[in-house]
Amino acid sequence: MSFDLDLFVIGAGSGGVRAARVAAQSGARVAVAEEYRVGGTCVIRGCVPKKLMVFASSFPAVVEDARAYGWDASIGSFDWSRFRKALHDELDRLEAIYRANLERAGVTIHPARAVLEDAHTVRLDSGERFTAKHILIATGGAPFIPEIPGRELASTSNDMFLMEELPRSILVVGGGYIACEFACILNSLGVDVTLAYRGPQILRAFDEEVRGHVSAAMRGAGIDIRTETDVAALHPAADGVRVAFADGGQGDYGRVLYATGRVPSTGGLGLEALGVRLRKSGAIAVDEWSQTSVPSIYAVGDVTDRVNLTPVAIREGQAFAETVFHGTPTKADHDLVPSAVFTQPEMAGIGMTEQEGRERGGVQIYSTAFRPMRTLFAGREDRVLMKLVVDSESRRVLGCHIVAPEAGEMIQLAAIAVKMGATKEDFDRTVAVHPTMAEELVTMKAPSRSW
Ligand code: NDP
Repeated sequence: MSFDLDLFVIGAGSGGVRAARVAAQSGARVAVAEEYRVGGTCVIRGCVPKKLMVFASSFPAVVEDARAYGWDASIGSFDWSRFRKALHDELDRLEAIYRANLERAGVTIHPARAVLEDAHTVRLDSGERFTAKHILIATGGAPFIPEIPGRELASTSNDMFLMEELPRSILVVGGGYIACEFACILNSLGVDVTLAYRGPQILRAFDEEVRGHVSAAMRGAGIDIRTETDVAALHPAADGVRVAFADGGQGDYGRVLYATGRVPSTGGLGLEALGVRLRKSGAIAVDEWSQTSVPSIYAVGDVTDRVNLTPVAIREGQAFAETVFHGTPTKADHDLVPSAVFTQPEMAGIGMTEQEGRERGGVQIYSTAFRPMRTLFAGREDRVLMKLVVDSESRRVLGCHIVAPEAGEMIQLAAIAVKMGATKEDFDRTVAVHPTMAEELVTMKAPSRSW
């Protein structure tokens, strides 16, 4: 049977773009459909604009510290619209690069929504149809807002980069990555931030000690974190949104940001009719080769809800293209994936948490918290946390967790050692780089606890 194309990719985000480019490099005929902007969540309304906002929000503290170091410095006011313009210029530049890279690889880009008609046919909203030997679904995910009265008054992370002006106050609902990152960014930009989380402690998936450390620091920086707090309804208010809490309390906020998770974007693609199996979460079920229950259809990235991180989607897209188009069967590795949360202070980790170690048993915990030189000199109370979870018998480092300025940069390097299977003694044999914060990773002598 002959097809118009060898590969049709739906979604030009991190996973889709990588897969399309690498497949095209094999000489395959490849097209991609994107209904919004090339680059996807990470580039257009996720990691990249978020990190630029983190940078923007970091300056007040730097200038304050500069005074302690002898500078006659003052920060002045923050011009959101000037920043927003520069931010979107940068996103336009990045999108153009992604587009150019695809075109240079010979991939045709269709600015359209695509749906599946059968196992080998894609229909665009323009009415055009293409047949392809393989179809890759890389449609990502979208913010989820629970069904509460007035939910249409809530903003999501998508809206945060497009705001006309900064609100005077904000209620952030949720206690995960996005909630905590935006709470910190907006707080440092001078917005009055309240964070409402339904459970007892924010950042549920992370190491308990890290969570406590970050939560205390966020509170210390002025964020009003309210745990065990649910929102019952949202109502319009003169100057924003009136929030009715489940405990009967209420409050007015300039904006309400819901960061209550994301859901895979599988709706309206025609998947069920085709027999593509979905998981309970709505994510596309795939095997270790990212193949769905329909053999010609594959899926990578957040739409499969495996490890929802950009670099993982890229690996999955690469592995798919290597396997199907380069004759090199490759599985994406989902084991020991490091990650960072760009809160203030930043936190990052890889591998086993202390609570996982406690459950498993046979682990030693090496943990240290201290005031780092730079901010201590400036009179700040900020503390850094370094932590290793070590197998008591093999001495292998099973987990590493850091709360520190640039913790993401540190964990990237520590993750290589952890992934290689380094032992605590391998860490200790490495000479410290002095004076740094990260030197504590190789100088922790005695375990703090054993489980
Ligand atoms: P998360 O899953 O991290 O957090 C969702 C939060 O919302 C949790 O605190 C959860 O509570 C809470 N929640 C869920 N449902 C409800 C509800 N019905 N009512 C009230 N609260 C609710 O999702 P995010 O949206 O923060 O981020 C999505 C994904 O994006 C992350 O999983 C991550 O993979 C990725 N991401 C990564 C970043 C990075 O690498 N730095 C940055 C941003 C996003 P509970 O804990 O009780 O379930």
